[in-house]
Amino acid sequence: MRIFSGIQPTGRKHLGNYIGAIRQYVDGQDRGDPAIYCIVDLHALTVPWDPAVLRESVYDTTAILIAAGLDPDRCILFRQSDVREHTELTWHLSAVTAHGDLNRMTQFKEKSAKQRELSSAGLFFYPVLMAADVLAYKADTVPVGDDQRQHVELMREIARRFNERFGEILVVPDHRIPEVGARIMDLQEPTNKMSTTGGTESGTVLVLDDPKTVAKKIKSAVTDSGSEVRRGEGKEGIANLIEILAVARGTSEDEIEREFAGSGYGDFKGAVAEAVVDYLAPVRERYEELRPDEEALESALSAGAEKAREIAAGTLAEVRSAIGLGPA
Ligand code: ATP
Ligand code: MG
Repeated sequence: MRIFSGIQPTGRKHLGNYIGAIRQYVDGQDRGDPAIYCIVDLHALTVPWDPAVLRESVYDTTAILIAAGLDPDRCILFRQSDVREHTELTWHLSAVTAHGDLNRMTQFKEKSAKQRELSSAGLFFYPVLMAADVLAYKADTVPVGDDQRQHVELMREIARRFNERFGEILVVPDHRIPEVGARIMDLQEPTNKMSTTGGTESGTVLVLDDPKTVAKKIKSAVTDSGSEVRRGEGKEGIANLIEILAVARGTSEDEIEREFAGSGYGDFKGAVAEAVVDYLAPVRERYEELRPDEEALESALSAGAEKAREIAAGTLAEVRSAIGLGPA
C-alpha cells in the first residue's frame, strides 16, 4: 500500500496537526510501500509569506517530523518544490477539474474571506495542486485530518475523470482519517478547528511550546457553565479536552468520562495539561537536538526528493503521453 501525505512548512505545528496527521505518518512509515511525506512549501504560497521565513520553516517542520519519529531511511521525506513534477501535473489535472467544484471548497471560502489584501488565485487552485501531490505517486491512502476530507473527495473525482478520458493511469486514493482526534478544536473557540493560520494564539497548543505554556493554555481553555466532564450539546470545549486526553493517554473517550465522573473542571484540566506536557515533551527535546544541524536536514530532504522524483517522473511520462504532449 502506497501512502502519501503533505504538511505545510511552519515551526508553528500544533497539537491538532500532531494528533490528526503527524502521529498517523509515524504509524504508517513501515506499512507504506513506500510511505511518502511531503513538506508542501508550494501550498504555503497561497497566503501571504516571507521568503526568508519560508525557507527556515521548511527546516523547522522537517525537524519536527523527524523528532516525532519519522526516519528518512524508512520513508520518503522531501520538500515539494524540489520535485517539479507536482507543478506540471497540476496544470494537466486542471483540464479535468471543474471550476464549480473548486468554488464549493470550504477551505477556499474560509481562507479567502480572511484575506485582507489579496485573495490569490493560488488559494483557489490549492486543491488541484494537492490532487497532483497525491496522484503523481499513485498513492492508495492519504492520512489527513477531518478538514481535508473534501479535498480528498475532489482529488478522487479528478482522478476518475482523468482515467475516464485518458485510460486507467491514475490511482483513485482513499483518505485515512483517525477515529479519535481527526478534528482538534481551538481551546479558546471550541467550535473552530485548531489551525496554523486561522486560530487564536492562546487556544493553539504548539508542539514546540514549553511545558509551562502548554499547561497554561490548557488550563485556560473555554468550557461551559456546567460541571460534568462528558461530551454533549453545548459542551464542545470539554468534549475537545476529553478527546485530547484520550489520545495523549492512548485510551478511549468513554474511559476518560468514567474516570472523571464527579470531578470538577479544574482537576480535569490539570490532568489534561499534565498528559499533554508528557505527550509533547520528548518531541520538543528531540527537536532541540536536531534543528541546529541544517546541513543534515537538507541532506535528508534532498535524498528524499531524489527518491520522490523517480516515482513522480514515471507517472508524468505516462500522463504526458496519454494526453498528447511531446513526440509520439
Ligand atoms: P491551516 O489552518 O493554515 O490550513 P493547518 O493547521 O490545517 O493549517 P496543515 O499543514 O494545512 O495545517 O495540515 C497538516 C495536516 O494536519 C492535515 O492533514 C490536516 O488535516 C491536519 N490538521 C490540521 N488541523 C487539524 C486539527 N485541528 N485537528 C486534526 N488534524 C488537523
Ligand atoms: Mg490546513
